[in-house]
Amino acid sequence: MSEVLKRPKRKNPVLRSRAPTLPPAIRSRVAHGLTAAAARGAFALQVCADCGAVQYPPREACRQCLSTRLPWRDQDGHGQLLSATVLRHSQELFFRERVPWRLGLVQLDVGATVVTHLHADVGEPPCRVRVTAALDRASEAVLVAVPAAGAPKLADDPKLRDMTCDVRFRKVLVTDGKSSVGQAVVRAVVEAGADIVWVGAAEPWKKMPGFDALRELRQVTVMPLDLTDSRSVQDLAGEIGFKVDILINTADYHRTLGIAARKGVENAQCEMDVNYFGLLRLAQEFGPVMKARGADGQSSAVAWVNLLSIYALSNFPLHGTYSASKAAALSLSQALRAELKSGGVRVINVFPGPIDDEWNQLLLPPKIAPAAVAAAIVSALGGSAEDVYPGDVAQEWLARFIDNPKALERELTQ
Ligand SMILES: [Zn+2]
Repeated sequence: MSEVLKRPKRKNPVLRSRAPTLPPAIRSRVAHGLTAAAARGAFALQVCADCGAVQYPPREACRQCLSTRLPWRDQDGHGQLLSATVLRHSQELFFRERVPWRLGLVQLDVGATVVTHLHADVGEPPCRVRVTAALDRASEAVLVAVPAAGAPKLADDPKLRDMTCDVRFRKVLVTDGKSSVGQAVVRAVVEAGADIVWVGAAEPWKKMPGFDALRELRQVTVMPLDLTDSRSVQDLAGEIGFKVDILINTADYHRTLGIAARKGVENAQCEMDVNYFGLLRLAQEFGPVMKARGADGQSSAVAWVNLLSIYALSNFPLHGTYSASKAAALSLSQALRAELKSGGVRVINVFPGPIDDEWNQLLLPPKIAPAAVAAAIVSALGGSAEDVYPGDVAQEWLARFIDNPKALERELTQ
């Protein structure tokens, strides 16, 4: 049975930090189709374009007709648990530390049969289940069967908790608490049960509505942090870096300018200084220490969240230089993801469409509310995705980008 997450014991500071073990991460190229879907929180399988067979495990050719036209299609995952078994021994260090481990064989309603991890709330076979895809500690896709009814949390199963970065009882750093999104994120993580929330503030003289109210929250401590100043980032990392479980980088410099709108490069430099170099400064100071704390159990460093923009995928010329800075940040976050992987720290990138804030005043709706972006971040931490596209605009841009990136580029010039 699942058990509700409890407050972790304090770490013994005398003991050496454990080195993290990771589950097996080798996958074939075609199997990364599962990972691509799991990265955005979906479960997808190959569906033959010629005979319609749904296929698992992923292969280069259709098992029925040998066709190589095998597009990935999202699945609802409903099926019947045929059998279950308990693993009591493993040659893999990761599973050796965690046995006994329950596995099952599920016949999906669409025909394919899949091997899955079993959520603790799944009963004995035969019974109805829903198969979902999750990213494990090695950031690779695995399948997890959960009860068909209800919405059980992965974090409530002690064995599967590692696949999530649940905010409850965690210590969180939000790098910019002055922006409207930053404030919404602080409120959302406090509501979701964070233990301590450090809130960065760059310009103490700048009065922002709502910011003073944040200070009154019991969990919140405001810290000086200016991402354009390497010394400021170093100082904060020296003070709290070894305690941060989840870092949420909400710092964002946004001006609505194309290339010809203004002479000089000062504005673009400011955007780069916060959106790209700010991330780099944070990554250099907080990255290594978080990576080293990836195996402290429930008190370990688990996640790094970057607030990017859907404009990172394809440049939106009206916000041309801003888009370029977000594209640079996206590229850097991929390097950070690779560096933090061996520590089991997940890098989650968030790609909202236009946010309903002061820098998008002249943009027509639909715009996403800051609270909705914050809710999407908390939800992503409680689940197991690594790329998040909150709101209808982001979802629509993503679909158009996946379908035809060149078409999206052309459409955005109009
Ligand atoms: Zn076929």
